[in-house]
Amino acid sequence: MTIRVLFPLEASRIAAGEVIERPASVVKELVENSLDAGATQITVDIRDGGLTSIRVVDDGCGIAGAELRLAFERHATSKLQAEADPWRIETLGFRGEALPSIAAAADVEITSRPSEQAEGRRLRFVAGEAVEEGPEASPPGTAVAVRALFRRQPARLKFLRSAASEAGHVGNVVSRYALAYPEVRFTLRADGRPALQAPGTGDLREAAAAVYGAQVVSSLLDVCPYEDVERMELALQGLVSPPHVTRATRNDISLFINRRWVRNRALTFAVEEGYQGQLQSGRHPLAIVYVRLPADDVDVNVHPAKAEVRLRREREVFGAIRDAVRATLNVGAPVTEIAAPRVWGTPPAGGVLPGPEGSEVPDLALASPAYQPELTPHAPGVNGATAGVPMLRPVGQVGNLYVVAESAEGLYLIDQHAAHERVLYERLLAALETSRPETQPLLQPATVELTPRQQALLSEYGDELRAQGFDIEPFGEGAWALRAVPSAIAADAGKAFAAVLDLLDREDGSSERRHRVAASLACHAAVRAGKTLSGAEMRELVEQLEATASPRTCPHGRPTMLHLSADHLAREFRRR
Ligand code: ADP
Ligand code: MG
Repeated sequence: MTIRVLFPLEASRIAAGEVIERPASVVKELVENSLDAGATQITVDIRDGGLTSIRVVDDGCGIAGAELRLAFERHATSKLQAEADPWRIETLGFRGEALPSIAAAADVEITSRPSEQAEGRRLRFVAGEAVEEGPEASPPGTAVAVRALFRRQPARLKFLRSAASEAGHVGNVVSRYALAYPEVRFTLRADGRPALQAPGTGDLREAAAAVYGAQVVSSLLDVCPYEDVERMELALQGLVSPPHVTRATRNDISLFINRRWVRNRALTFAVEEGYQGQLQSGRHPLAIVYVRLPADDVDVNVHPAKAEVRLRREREVFGAIRDAVRATLNVGAPVTEIAAPRVWGTPPAGGVLPGPEGSEVPDLALASPAYQPELTPHAPGVNGATAGVPMLRPVGQVGNLYVVAESAEGLYLIDQHAAHERVLYERLLAALETSRPETQPLLQPATVELTPRQQALLSEYGDELRAQGFDIEPFGEGAWALRAVPSAIAADAGKAFAAVLDLLDREDGSSERRHRVAASLACHAAVRAGKTLSGAEMRELVEQLEATASPRTCPHGRPTMLHLSADHLAREFRRR
């Protein structure tokens, strides 16, 4: 075989394959160029999912007539200065590969006019060759039309899905940019029909409403904004769903780092960790989280499409996201309402999101200032740390299951077992963090026989169980001796231990081992459904619940209480 250097067109087709995989990648590159050009309005039109044509029009800075051809040369870019530090990438593009790659994969026509130029200039490529160039009357800005994508690469065409599915990908790309740049007016039309219209007001809630619909967005909570003002090393803001508004996948957890949409498993997990024990298993939140970091902390040069980034201080960012989400939920999540309208549906148009990229991060003028969840007239700040749960007065018990309580805001039904689980769970975790957990030595060691499954659980969770106060040693074939148990366990230590292991097996809350152990122990020790409670016991339970950090859900995400508002009662009884 002879070795030869690739012809430039071949070389750019190969490189194009890395960047341009499908119509949505063309849209992504063109929209990024428009954003880098400072556009305030970007219109995307696609035909047949972009396979027949894609047109992106912006009102950005334009390309000087004399440089139009140069923009299509490989590695021609206006965005990276010769001596620049590649860590300091503050524009979305920087490699100068997109335009030549697109021209290698499709027929392209570009018209561009910088505002100081009296008229625009048009340039047309067929099969990667410039075939036509000349002056053209046009408004300031740039319009790029891409036709017959991959017609000369049938192999790639074969990998594509239906036009509808490609249109979905394009919708996701535009959605993510609309969320990343709420100050830009985005319009997406598919086959002439409007698919997405972001108003470009700079208000994140309005941008999010264009993507998810106003109803879903009205339930979202503003992430308690965080900014490390002194060192300017980390800032956070965003919107997250309350624990009862969930999705079946993680697709609606969107992360933006320095305004670049990124895929990052660890940080996605950090968002979910913020819900610690408040999400039902298999359900995921909807979250839009913006992180701002110094440019040198982010390496975007990991992936050709720049969707993956490497972070220098990932652990720190992880902790900041988790804590911000947690604080947001503790302050703002509403109590589940009885008779509240069930609002959450599926997102409209465009649906879910693939991705943007960020630039130099002007401040996102965020969302409506002080968001008050509509469902809870008594929402944040009612009694300090347990905002959202007002002072409750128990008035009785129903079915030996529920405590009935009242406050100025109406009537509350409290699930006695779930509420007590929440109380014990937080107490057990706090004991782990502050001191040694309360344990109770047994006068007479108890022996317990474990099934093979229980033994497997013991070897997986042994450290966490010991940390909670179980003192346990092997005692012959399949048998174990218990010398001490957590004080939360009242009687019959051996049986209780086996029961906790069984609960661990069913535990569907957190993925963190020590949280799972605490949740299982809390579940075992919590007051049973079916137990009659005295007035004093009810008062104590309610007071303890009010003092927890997340009083509205048990450690598995089920509600601890339901609220029937005074307002709703008055309406139902036609008092007003
Ligand atoms: P990159 O974005 O990495 O610089 P591209 O191939 O995407 O590479 O674009 C090459 C150059 O063309 C850009 O650096 C920019 O100067 C110019 N350009 C492309 N699209 C636009 C646009 N919509 N508005 C203004 N300039 C543009
Ligand atoms: Mg570019």
